[in-house]
Amino acid sequence: MFIGHFGVGLAAKKVTPAVSLGTLFLSAQFLDLLWPSLLLLGVEHVAIDPGNTKLTPLNFVSYPYSHSLIMVCIWGTLLGGAHWIVKREVKAAIIIGGLVVSHWVLDLLVHRPDLPLHLGESPLFGFGLWNSIFGTLLLEGGIFISGVILYLRATKANNRSGLIGFWALIGFLLLIYAGNVLGPPPPDTGAIAWIGQLQWLFVLWAYWVDKNRTAS
Ligand SMILES: [Zn+2]
Repeated sequence: MFIGHFGVGLAAKKVTPAVSLGTLFLSAQFLDLLWPSLLLLGVEHVAIDPGNTKLTPLNFVSYPYSHSLIMVCIWGTLLGGAHWIVKREVKAAIIIGGLVVSHWVLDLLVHRPDLPLHLGESPLFGFGLWNSIFGTLLLEGGIFISGVILYLRATKANNRSGLIGFWALIGFLLLIYAGNVLGPPPPDTGAIAWIGQLQWLFVLWAYWVDKNRTAS
């Protein structure tokens, strides 16, 4: 799942207007921001396997540190806890932790059974919605569009950067998603990890957009 996670981050602005969209993106997409570094370190493994599901040519061979339920709960607690230590906002901290965990729940709907519960030998879960292009686009597109609408209702642009920057961010996310779905499989697993690192740009971009908008 890609734009669905960003959609949840956008939607969260409605409930925590004081928290920057950058932080909301960081939280909702944290597992997939961590994953490329773990691939590069050789701690987690992915294989290119076209036809694995209709939506992705990737076979998520092993990713217990970024994507096991127990670790996801720990990452959520750490991120929410860090926010609480810095800002002392309990509600925002809980939402940030919840966003981290929401990533696993959404992945559970779309992945094949490849999501572990814990480190080591764990049963694997996944409902496999990625086998249906229509079902995936309906779910992910629906979450993303709802997120955009809620973010627009929660904020207003202060200037052209807040307006154009926002729509450019949305357009770029959709472009990358279309490339993932329609484009050829990546050439090798190193490319997956390096391209994955570019997602940090979306986080920085969202901090900048959010700075140029105010909660309405
Ligand atoms: Zn993920």
